[in-house]
Amino acid sequence: MFKTTLHAFITAAKGLVVTLAHLFGARRSRKIRDVRKVDYFDKQDGVTTVQFPREKMPIPEVARYQLDVEIDDCIVCDLCAKACPVDCITIESVKSPDVIGKTSDGSVKRLYAAQFDIDMAKCMYCGLCTVVCPTECIVMTDQYDRSMTNLAELTYSFTDMTAEEVEQKKREWTRFQAEKEAAKNK
Ligand code: SF4
Ligand code: SF4
Repeated sequence: MFKTTLHAFITAAKGLVVTLAHLFGARRSRKIRDVRKVDYFDKQDGVTTVQFPREKMPIPEVARYQLDVEIDDCIVCDLCAKACPVDCITIESVKSPDVIGKTSDGSVKRLYAAQFDIDMAKCMYCGLCTVVCPTECIVMTDQYDRSMTNLAELTYSFTDMTAEEVEQKKREWTRFQAEKEAAKNK
């Protein structure tokens, strides 16, 4: 009986110590530590997290967050879409009869990006698309806080073409093909 009562008091005291530690800890905020520092995973005193979005934890340089595409440097090769394990990149290309320009690394552009969508709600941030891109125009940024209430808003469109421009380019390509066929049959 005595032992049981003593055990109950000790247990209650231990619980109280934990509660008090949290009570006083709640008055202190955690420190913003650089993830590259060796003490990053050290136990912190405070239990209050940083005051996001006013305060932000530093992120590593190689962090994988929201994707971005520099569409002027895209040659619309579709490699990123093919490499994506979850099929969250949708690309539609339109051929051009002529060279339409060059990327900043000198690659020749022959295709228009009629559609270039990335569904970030599906993306698992593996980074494969950035690895295979020959012009390095699809990159992971340090942006991680684009919260949306509408899921559809997480599909980012990177094309710079209007629907009318796409239709016009398609017509140009169809006309070019028809003229080529006609010249062949002469
Ligand atoms: S990071 Fe991975 S999952 Fe996301 S779009 Fe690129 S390849 Fe697909
Ligand atoms: S791999 Fe790069 S160049 Fe090719 S379509 Fe994707 S973003 Fe454009």
